[in-house]
This record gives sequence, C-alpha cells and structure tokens, in this order.
Amino acid sequence: MTPRAAAPAAPGARARAAAMTPARLMEEARRVRRMAHAPYSRFPVGAALLTRSGRVFLGCNVENASYGLTTCAERSAVFAAVAAGEREFVAIAVTAREGHGAPPCGSCRQVLQEFAPGMWVYWRDQRGRIQKSRLKALLPKAFVFRKGGA
Ligand SMILES: [Zn+2]
Repeated sequence: MTPRAAAPAAPGARARAAAMTPARLMEEARRVRRMAHAPYSRFPVGAALLTRSGRVFLGCNVENASYGLTTCAERSAVFAAVAAGEREFVAIAVTAREGHGAPPCGSCRQVLQEFAPGMWVYWRDQRGRIQKSRLKALLPKAFVFRKGGA
C-alpha cells in the first residue's frame, strides 16, 4: 500500500495553526499528560503536535513491564498524526510534571525529523518556562537514509 498524501489544507487552516501559540499547545500537552501510563518511572509526559492543517494530535508516554517497549509521548503523537494522514508538522509541545524539564529524547528527535526538520519544539525548563528551538538545532547531522549509500 502506498502512503496517502494528506488532504489539502482547508481554508483557514493556516490561521488555525497560527492561532495555536506555544502556550496553548503546551496547555494541550499538559492536559494529555494525565493520561500517561508511567507506573515504573513515575515520570508522566504529554505531547501536543500541531500540523500545518491546524489539527493537534496528542500523545502520552506508555510504559511497559518490559521496559524496552515503552513509547514516549512525542512518538505517540506522531504516530497518531501519521495514521490520520497528517505529515506536515509545524510544532510540538512536550511537558513533564512541574519542576522537571523534558526536552525530547534523541529517539523522538529522529522520528520528528523524518517529517519536519524545520519544525518548532517547545518544552518546559525546570522553572516551568517554555523553551523553544527548531528541531534541526536539537538534532544536527540527523541520520537520513539515502538509497545507494550516504
Ligand atoms: Zn522520546
């Protein structure tokens, strides 16, 4: 099955995306953090992913008794967006509990860069302030698959 392109953005999509400020997106991430399944680390994380069409996809970390099967909040949000036909990402907000900084881990940075190297990444520092960076600054020299060799 070939991947299906996302439907063209509806009129007003850019305006909706623009209206989603870092603070609003962070609030969405904070709300979904409550859904995290984190009985082992007790480190619940929420993520809210904004697409170019103005939709927001949510994710939380889902841990497993077999630790290696755990999935981060950011990747949960990306997978939900891709399954809905969305691949153009504008920004993602990530938050752990107050007092804990939670920039995306290396695995999540690599997964995000597959779709949108130029996207914005928002996270909270330990004082609760929203930090932001372009993804490409957080993951310089990302792995990119090229047929026939690097
Ligand atoms: Zn991660």
